[in-house]
This record gives sequence, C-alpha cells and structure tokens, in this order.
Amino acid sequence: MKVFLSSDMEGTAGVVDWSQCLAPQPEYQYYRGLLQDEVNAAIDGAMAGGATEVLVNDSHSTMQNLRPDALHGRARYLSGRHKPMYMMQGLDPSFDAVFFVSYHGSMASEASTLSHTYNPRAIARVRLNGIEVGESGINMLVALGHGVPVVLVTGDDTTAEEAARISPAIVPAVVKHSVSRFAAESLHPEEAKALIEDAARRAMEGVGSAALPQITLPATLEVLFLTGDMAEMATWINGVQRVDARTVTMSDDDPIRLFRTFITTVLLTRAIVE
Ligand SMILES: [Zn+2]
Repeated sequence: MKVFLSSDMEGTAGVVDWSQCLAPQPEYQYYRGLLQDEVNAAIDGAMAGGATEVLVNDSHSTMQNLRPDALHGRARYLSGRHKPMYMMQGLDPSFDAVFFVSYHGSMASEASTLSHTYNPRAIARVRLNGIEVGESGINMLVALGHGVPVVLVTGDDTTAEEAARISPAIVPAVVKHSVSRFAAESLHPEEAKALIEDAARRAMEGVGSAALPQITLPATLEVLFLTGDMAEMATWINGVQRVDARTVTMSDDDPIRLFRTFITTVLLTRAIVE
C-alpha cells in the first residue's frame, strides 16, 4: 500500500500568519516543527491503516520545510523548487492513496487562514467545471489522471469543505476553525496530531472502496486574475481563452495536461505580479 502525501503549511494548527510559515522569519523554525509533527501523525495513521510506503512531497514555499531524518515510517522525501508537477510531483499510478496535509482554503473563500490559490498576487478565483475550488480541487486533477483517490485532507474547516466538493468521501481532519484570513481557533497541537492520526487510519481503511475525484471530462478551469494584464499574458499559452477582462478558461480531456496548462499560467503570470 503506497501513500502519496502532499504537505503544505498554512493548514497547520496554530499557524495564522505568513511570518510563521516563511523562512527566514524567526518564528518559522517553531512552526515548521508543528508541521513536521502533523505530517508524522498522518504517516503514523497511514501505517496503522495498512500503508507500507509513503512518499512526502513538500509543497510549501520553496518546498524544503521538513527534516528528512525526522520523518516517520522511513518515508521518502521529495523536496525543492521547480518541480514540473508542483504540489503533485512524484504521484504515479503505482500509488493507492493521496493525502493532503496542512492544506488551506482558496483565495475566494469567505474565511480561511492564509487563503490563496497558488499565487495570492495573481489569482482571485478558480472554478473547475463551474465549482469554486482551491488548490485541493485543482490538484485532484492529477490524482484523477493517475487513477488514485484522494482520501485525507487536513487543515481548517473551509479547506475540508472545499476538498469535499470534488472528493465527497474524503476524510477530513479539521485542526482549526478560521475566524478570518489571519485568525483561527486551533486545537492544541497534541489534539491536532491525535485527530490527524485517527483520520489517516480511517482514510486508509476506506481506500479499497474510495472513489476517484468527481471531475467530468473534458474538464474546464476558469481562472479570474487580479489584473487584465495577467489574463492577457495567460492567453499566450496554447489553448487558453480569454472570456472577459480578467478571466480566462482552459479545457482538456486529459486532466494532467489541464493541470500543467494551469501551472504554466501560474508561473508565467508570476513575471508581472507586483
Ligand atoms: Zn503553502
């Protein structure tokens, strides 16, 4: 039983500010430890539920937030920048389950701690087949493409709700309740770890009957940018259509190719963010 674990950081219990999750801010060293503990709790639960192999793909910021020697379960660690499949790098059809750990809500959500959708200075909202999604929903395109179910999401309440829009049976571990984009009521870290471990174990027990992400193909992503310039720039990519001043769409019958087109718009428009 192989588990692919994509770890972000904004969804960790206690995290409410960018200064807590970006190096070299002094607070970061403390909060990265909390993230490590939550990732390990998910690994422990996976192992208790029958997993034999775990690959952790570090997906936050420059993607080097964890200590390899402190990872439980002898997990392999995929880290570092410029990964072509970004938060889903390393997933292939040999895996049995996908975990999203310490994920956060979308830029367009009502309240979610440190909410954003890939780039908060470029992307205001993303819809997948008309459904408002965050990074969880977008990343599920890759899971669908490889035929692997996404069975666990950890983070705040908004994140859990958004993930369930595309994978309704996903097991949530809600470790904090977001009050605003920069405020949350969090479980004690020990409680958060226990909750995540239990949810991960239950998620593994359901893997055999878990459904793939519910995305009808061909699928369409609609992306609202912050400025018209960004939407114009996105149309330089083959297949990206501009529908109004700040909105583009892209459609594909191959979900992985659609994800790659989206990631290319993210990386391209990064050139003109302020
Ligand atoms: Zn992040």
